[in-house]
Amino acid sequence: MSSTPHYTIRPVSVGALTIGKSHLVFGVGYGEMIDSVVLMYYVEGAGRRVLVDTGCCDVESSTRNHYPLRRSPEEEPVKALANIGVAPADIDTVICTHLHWDHCYNHELFTNAKFYVQRTELQYAAAPHPMNCKAYESTTIGMTPPFSKTRFEVLDGDAEIAPGLTAVFAPGHTPGMQGAAVNTTDGVYFIAGDNLPLYANWEGNQLQKHIPGINFVNVDDYYRTFQLIERMADHILPGHDPKVLEKAVYP
Ligand SMILES: [Zn+2]
Repeated sequence: MSSTPHYTIRPVSVGALTIGKSHLVFGVGYGEMIDSVVLMYYVEGAGRRVLVDTGCCDVESSTRNHYPLRRSPEEEPVKALANIGVAPADIDTVICTHLHWDHCYNHELFTNAKFYVQRTELQYAAAPHPMNCKAYESTTIGMTPPFSKTRFEVLDGDAEIAPGLTAVFAPGHTPGMQGAAVNTTDGVYFIAGDNLPLYANWEGNQLQKHIPGINFVNVDDYYRTFQLIERMADHILPGHDPKVLEKAVYP
């Protein structure tokens, strides 16, 4: 009997947004501006080359429509991948944690990939609550969503993408969020997307074991997802924390 394959995970930065900390950690750090790195996670193992999320738009569009973005030449998406030895055409799979603008640009680069999204997310993105429209760059406010030409593989709940690599339905930050549970030599890493923007969300404080971000539709779903992550994960990888870049590869 063969054992479950092990994967490695590399965080790839495509820039940093300037954003209020309280936006990422509800009720914490009002007025404090922080760097929110925009990440793609590259997962490799068992002959598979997978990206979890694909980054955001260019500096000009980001700054005009959302938040100021700083991006060095090394953080241009194609260059950032080249820096870890990956060409976009090598990617066989893209797992979209959710369809916010800072996670799902650049799909056109990955010409050989299958794109996985939860049905609930795709449906919600079609007509979000007005509060969430800009984050989806929704047609309902006259924008063109970055994923509008993507042919998705639509998931209804948890799905094994490959042995030891599972897309996990994890509503919270958005109604159709998914995370990626990745088997490694050091247990299961859970790539949490924006359910956990920073390590600080997971570390919590004296009042809350874990702290949501400011964006959610159903906070009870969010808390159930925290419990799900507790059960599944030996380690978490957050959606926007610059600290993840202190290691080139996990584990
Ligand atoms: Zn988001």
